[in-house]
Amino acid sequence: MQRTAAPLGRRKVWLTCQRLLQPTGRFRRRSLSLVVRRQRRRRCMARDDFSTAVKNSLRMRASLICSNPDCRKQTVAPSESDEDKFVSLGKAAHITAAAVGGPRYDANLASEERAAISNSIYLCSGCADLIDKNNGKDFPTPTLKAWKEEHEKWVSANLNKQRGGLGGEGGSGTIMGNRGTVIGGMGGNGGVAGVGGKGGSGFIRGDDGLIIGGDGGNCATADGRGGKGARGPTERLGYSTSMWGYGRGGSGTNHPEYNRRIKLLAQFRSEYQAKFPGDAPYIDAGVDVVPADWINQRLVECSESWQVLLGERGYVLPAL
Ligand SMILES: [Zn+2]
Repeated sequence: MQRTAAPLGRRKVWLTCQRLLQPTGRFRRRSLSLVVRRQRRRRCMARDDFSTAVKNSLRMRASLICSNPDCRKQTVAPSESDEDKFVSLGKAAHITAAAVGGPRYDANLASEERAAISNSIYLCSGCADLIDKNNGKDFPTPTLKAWKEEHEKWVSANLNKQRGGLGGEGGSGTIMGNRGTVIGGMGGNGGVAGVGGKGGSGFIRGDDGLIIGGDGGNCATADGRGGKGARGPTERLGYSTSMWGYGRGGSGTNHPEYNRRIKLLAQFRSEYQAKFPGDAPYIDAGVDVVPADWINQRLVECSESWQVLLGERGYVLPAL
């Protein structure tokens, strides 16, 4: 078990007691209790709280959003009863405790370091309580530092952008017949600066049938591609390709910059095929791709600031 500062405090008291021992070996009780009271008071006072300036800067850097990546709750709203006021659920929490014996207390830090913005994390009140439960053992210092770093990056990446893309809508089924079961598709996930595709709708003509609407499209990706249409039930069940369109999730809208990049890549591909006609049919058939080095060299020549990587399923574009 880790020894905290409490036993240390007691040891100090004990040493003081030794000094207070009378030659007869009896305690001077009143003096002892005075010493204990003083020590307790000093311990209570020794909290390295954040200044108002630190708290203000921290909450603005977090964009008033909880830094727990699984939470990201908005923490401030206007007061409904008073036009001048607001309600706040946000807290400037200590990564390592402000006082001896608190969660994740680090005795190696100087008092100023403990009260510095580097030792703070902005959280909603629920998450601020959560991280201190069990005296912080479930949320160690490195975890909270990683949350803060990731959150600030996320806030920076979303500056001046629309809020996360909407999830795709669930697909709807249609049955023309007497009996049947219809199950709407799942909605797609929300995305970053893009909109998840809408779920496709299914269609069955006949007396009996089970129909499942297509899933919503996937969320938009960090490189700016909109949600990709999910496979429809007819495709998944191995029906003929003419049926694959039924129930397919719709695609989300791409970020305009992503569209521009895709257009540029298509142009480079044409250039490459014109220059190396022997390779052209293989590229057309998809058994070969234009080498990523060629693409990246052309990007440099066109003064573009981004590069592609060759992934398992084609080029990987950098995040926008
Ligand atoms: Zn939270």
